[in-house]
Amino acid sequence: MRIVLLGAPGSGKGTQAKLLVDKYKIPQISTGDLLRAAVAARTELGKKAKAVMEAGQLVSDDIVLGIIQERLAKPDSKGGFILDGFPRNIPQAQALDAMLARLGQPLQLALLVDVDDAVLMKRLTGRRNCGSCGAIYNIYFSPPRTPGKCDHCGGILQHRSDDNEETVRNRLKVYHEQTSPLVSYYKAQGKLRTVRGVGGIGDIFRNICTVIESQIRPLAAVMGQIGASLAAKSKAAKAKKAAAKPVSVVKTKPKKAAKKKAKKKAVKKKAVKKVARKTKARKPVKKTKTKKGKKAKKTK
Ligand SMILES: [Zn+2]
Repeated sequence: MRIVLLGAPGSGKGTQAKLLVDKYKIPQISTGDLLRAAVAARTELGKKAKAVMEAGQLVSDDIVLGIIQERLAKPDSKGGFILDGFPRNIPQAQALDAMLARLGQPLQLALLVDVDDAVLMKRLTGRRNCGSCGAIYNIYFSPPRTPGKCDHCGGILQHRSDDNEETVRNRLKVYHEQTSPLVSYYKAQGKLRTVRGVGGIGDIFRNICTVIESQIRPLAAVMGQIGASLAAKSKAAKAKKAAAKPVSVVKTKPKKAAKKKAKKKAVKKKAVKKVARKTKARKPVKKTKTKKGKKAKKTK
């Protein structure tokens, strides 16, 4: 399975990515890690990236894509990958699509782990680390027993300077500016699925797995679609018969409403029949159309 993970800082998508790696035995491809590894291994692209970074510039999309492509050539990527932190904008997404198309391995799913900004704010600004043992707390969700003190070692809890409200707000703003076009991009491709990133880690993971199984098992999904369209067709046909109305009218209504309407109409018809019998209509009841039925009702 070939997945792009989307989610704000603090959404917990990193945690979920690790769980996916364990379950599906596919690598998580983080472009930051890849770049560092390529630089350390002094590959051709790594050397290029290093030169660019040393000049204080951003590594170009071409270099990043090249490094991703090299990573995808490794045997453990055969079953797919989870791409995390890339793409960050539409040109990158398009370049990625083009590359994956060349490899015959198009993306199957863009998974958005969605968390409200208010929750993200608390998750990110509430973080505290023990300066002695490294234990992690959150003053909103998992506070220490004594404020400011580590439960395990009594060490003093520290607040990272980049976890202050203004910095976090800015990070979230940047995230939304970058991500909303990507969300539209993948939605237009029919590849976007959203999972709420609140609640227990296990629950979120189960939801993610459900989405993956339904999205990525192509045969199952296709069969499901065929089944659904057949059911819709037969329903529409039944509704058409019952309502004796142009199909186009029935079609534009939601299926359930159409069925209900058809039922109502059937009941009405019965009533009309009764009325028609009472008024001793000369024409056979069978041919009585609804409009005439209404007239018959008026004659009562
Ligand atoms: Zn501690």
